[in-house]
Amino acid sequence: DDEDANSSVSPQGCGLGSWGNKNWGDTGSCAAKKKHQSWFQSSDGNWELAKILSISGTESFISYSEGEVLKVNSDSMLPANPEILDGVDDLMQLSYLNEPSVLYNLKYRYDRDMIYTKAGPVLVAINPFKKIPLYGSDYIEIYKNKSKDSPHVYAIADTAFREMITDEVNPSIVISGESGAGKTETAKIAMQYLAALGGGSGIEYEILKTNPILEAFGNAKTSRNNNSSRFGKLIEIHFSETGKISGANIQTFLLEKSRVVQCTEGERSYHSFYQLCAGAPPPLREKLNLKGVNEYKYLQQSTCYTINGVNDAEQFHIVVEALDAVHVSKEDQENAFAMLAAVLWLGNVTFSIVDNENHVEPVIDEAMLNVSTLIGCEADDLKIALSTRKMKAGNENIVQKLTLTQAIDTRDALAKSIYSCLFDWLVEQINKSLAVGKSQTGRSISILDIYGFESFDVNSFEQFCINYANERLQQHFNRHLLKLEQEEYIQDGIDWAKVEFKDNQDCLNLFEKKPLGLLTLLDEESTFPNGTDLTFATKLGQNLKSNSCFKGERGKAFTVRHYAGEIKYDTSGFLEKNRDLLHLDSIQLLSSCTCGLPQAFASSMLSSSEKPVLGPLHKSGGADSQKLSVVTKFKGQLFQLMQRLESTTPHFIRCIKPNNSQSPGIYHQGLVLQQLRCCGVLEVVRISRSGFPTRISHQKFARRYGFLLLHHVALQDPLSVSVAVLHQCDILPEMYQIGYTKLFFRTGQIGKLEDIRNHT
Ligand code: ATP
Ligand code: MG
Repeated sequence: DDEDANSSVSPQGCGLGSWGNKNWGDTGSCAAKKKHQSWFQSSDGNWELAKILSISGTESFISYSEGEVLKVNSDSMLPANPEILDGVDDLMQLSYLNEPSVLYNLKYRYDRDMIYTKAGPVLVAINPFKKIPLYGSDYIEIYKNKSKDSPHVYAIADTAFREMITDEVNPSIVISGESGAGKTETAKIAMQYLAALGGGSGIEYEILKTNPILEAFGNAKTSRNNNSSRFGKLIEIHFSETGKISGANIQTFLLEKSRVVQCTEGERSYHSFYQLCAGAPPPLREKLNLKGVNEYKYLQQSTCYTINGVNDAEQFHIVVEALDAVHVSKEDQENAFAMLAAVLWLGNVTFSIVDNENHVEPVIDEAMLNVSTLIGCEADDLKIALSTRKMKAGNENIVQKLTLTQAIDTRDALAKSIYSCLFDWLVEQINKSLAVGKSQTGRSISILDIYGFESFDVNSFEQFCINYANERLQQHFNRHLLKLEQEEYIQDGIDWAKVEFKDNQDCLNLFEKKPLGLLTLLDEESTFPNGTDLTFATKLGQNLKSNSCFKGERGKAFTVRHYAGEIKYDTSGFLEKNRDLLHLDSIQLLSSCTCGLPQAFASSMLSSSEKPVLGPLHKSGGADSQKLSVVTKFKGQLFQLMQRLESTTPHFIRCIKPNNSQSPGIYHQGLVLQQLRCCGVLEVVRISRSGFPTRISHQKFARRYGFLLLHHVALQDPLSVSVAVLHQCDILPEMYQIGYTKLFFRTGQIGKLEDIRNHT
């Protein structure tokens, strides 16, 4: 019944129907009456601290800021915490856990460069957007020696590491948050700590060097983040029995390919292109026929070529050094750069009309010649691949000439494929290099850094996939911290007032349900020869209109009510991006190339397309049909990821973006609040605070502490022994609960018992 009560979504889209003051002012608004300090919401929506002067019935007189006096509704006030609790490092310690108190506590710390705060079991990290002196070897030593335990990514990594060694489990560190909130930086900080802890063999150096490579090829400047990850990443670091790093493996998820051929104003394509153009030494520059970035059409679509404070030429050298470190040979490096140059030159290929049916052929110019040299094919073969398509009509092979739009699509599809194959190839090279000491122990720590929830003015297929992934991750978070925890209490029959939380199963169903879910309907429409983005949108409207997480829109759009808010998607390009067809002619062209990489790309494309999922209707195009649709493949990857995560003990880090301008020192209450609300952090604190985090079976407890009993009466069963111990040691009744199989303790109680045990 709990799901029914909470799955409904409020009109604001955050589904926070139950998120009012009632839930969070633990002692209710009446507590305000007894307090001198209270919170009230000013006209701009921000919470302000005020002093209560008098209360008469439902009205209160308050004074705030410079002695201004206001009459407010008593019910609209929330109690503030006493000053002594200012800036506590775990939100669990707050007496009043209402929204303004939490916001204030986080800001108090943020203003003092204490960007990390615990929210019970979760680490909250607020992006400082500036260098803060909290990292490096001195700090690592402090956390290693446990001489400090203030909240930090290092502390999380340390706990995960110790847990792996002593409990023989495989921990994971799951990092989430919006775009620009600091996930990738946080993942790197965790990796640094683990490298310092488990280093020695040198492999840790290689592991750290994977970051500049993946960021160069998979990150780009977006309107939200100058270094936005356009792919998801799970890195699994392997350890030996003694806790030494023995290798690693990286899995990546769905790179945003479209960015290679189209780019919004103010954003950039992948860093790698700019780095190569800026940093390639003269011989390479000559060999690849490189020009300045502003001479390539793909990059010209946005007039943004540089990033403040970033030197692309310098970055290029860092990437080369990193490629050296992970043993990519100089020859392979050069081949990889040739692919980048080929993609750039492909964008400059132009077409001219050659007959009166508007068929086109590429103009044989510098761009065409450069592409063919760079990938190692005859210019004529390239020309044919870009201007014709072989089709089967019955038993006959016919050659269809392409119109301008078709030719441009073919050219762009080739560019996108080359780039994404190059990315996958690099990951493969990295994995080969990191697999040296393949873990025999099976011990590992995984770190997940996946693209955050995205909401732009126009949201396309990429945001659709990214936000779907975030729904899955949110469910994992809910399950572990909100659901399983409470289920355990209920199952063991202890006295527990259930904390309600927002379940996102309905939204996941909207995506995944068969046959009438977003993914299935998209796949279906993608296989219809007459399917268009518009017919897709119409079909969604017809089939899903009764779904509470869905809202039909006019024309080619639809809206999804995500856990993090309502997002309107524009279906333009959905079908094409989902099919992601590279015509057989292009694949054949690549496999005929004399350069090693295009050949490898072609064979990987052919081998990864075994399952005919897009249905028979696409067969006309030859091998095109033999391919999983993008969403189906992505869904499969996500399921696999969830399975992998389920086999680990999770540690969660929630990154928060304090402002939208990527600036230090600015803390927007509303923005922070919205992020805290939608990720369920406060519910977690509430459950943890009222919960019993330590649990021990009756047997184990009796075995460990039974000997403390002064009177060895005829107590036999473990439960009676346990109860007797608790009484004798003066553990207060509100500090524990007796379940059917286990004893549940609040924090600190076992420590007390251990002290008694050690002094006996
Ligand atoms: P996306 O989802 O777009 O990939 P993200 O959550 O991975 O976003 P990051 O790239 O990690 O975001 O962070 C964005 C920027 O914020 C960084 O480039 C850096 O400038 C700054 N930043 C993040 N965390 C820290 C930190 N701990 N210290 C200093 N600066 C930081
Ligand atoms: Mg990132």
